[in-house]
Amino acid sequence: QKAEWAKLVNEKSVSADGHHVELAANIGTPKDLKGVVENGGEGIGLYRTEFLYMGRDQLPTEEEQFESYKAVLEGMSGKPVVVRTLDIGGDKELPYLNLPKEMNPFLGFRAIRLCLEEQDMFRTQLRALLRASTYGNLKIMFPMIATLDEFRQGKAILEEEKQKLISEGTEVAGNIEIGIMVEIPSTAVMAEQFAKEVDFFSVGTNDLIQYTMAADRMNERVSYLYQPYNPAILRLVKMVIDAAHKEGKWAGMCGEMAGDETAIPLLLGLGLDEFSMSATSILKARSQISQLNKKDMEALAEKALHMNTAEEVVQAVKDATKL
Ligand code: PEP
Ligand code: MG
Repeated sequence: QKAEWAKLVNEKSVSADGHHVELAANIGTPKDLKGVVENGGEGIGLYRTEFLYMGRDQLPTEEEQFESYKAVLEGMSGKPVVVRTLDIGGDKELPYLNLPKEMNPFLGFRAIRLCLEEQDMFRTQLRALLRASTYGNLKIMFPMIATLDEFRQGKAILEEEKQKLISEGTEVAGNIEIGIMVEIPSTAVMAEQFAKEVDFFSVGTNDLIQYTMAADRMNERVSYLYQPYNPAILRLVKMVIDAAHKEGKWAGMCGEMAGDETAIPLLLGLGLDEFSMSATSILKARSQISQLNKKDMEALAEKALHMNTAEEVVQAVKDATKL
């Protein structure tokens, strides 16, 4: 099987009835690029920049960040690279920021919330990204967006830094897409409004599932409630994809669900444009998609949306595909 998959390394990702999707990779450092190229990644769908900030005792400089972003953009030779701005807080701590302990860190001062407050830190990252933008196909994504206002603030700050760089004589790419992660149910529900302003969505199911089901993604005792195939989750994902398409935008997914063989038929049927996963899952997913009929998966997804339980959905996927 592995040998069969390996033949797909330079192939496009196309369903049996000719529908194209993009299979991209999640990375944490420039060192992960080798695996992406070896596994035929068509882009980077999520570069988690937290690792640049972790395991040290002070913030990384603009120059250090610039070097990392440049390395990733160059390493992907013009293929799309979605960089997520700092998503610290929740499970990811930065001791040197000396943030006060919180009762509910997952519902607390984290990610974009922190960046909009700690603007020096945020602006440094954005400047490094903008300076690196001429080395490839950069897209910038804000994490944990809950309201349109947060997106507008983040975008305005990005725009300010861009104008500053340009007036200093630094070259910046002209066509940088700016998108958001959909990890919070309010954002999925409001996707139609967001879609008028963002360039793309990437659904972060790792968090979206925990917030929708109110089940901590790291707590074993409630893991039975952490249900990717619950029709509630599928409906939220559908709202995001439909809203994007209505405005001529694209919708991707970078949570674990995007590389899951039971979820892939449903996501293809719902019309997901980009699937971002660990590099080692890409060839298997490409092979699976090549054997699926998009039209059939649309019918399957439509049925799944009206089912009552996650178990029914899993059974329906098994019945409709060779799983
Ligand atoms: C997610 O929430 O699905 C996601 C991709 O982000 P992280 O796993 O880094 O929280
Ligand atoms: Mg997340």
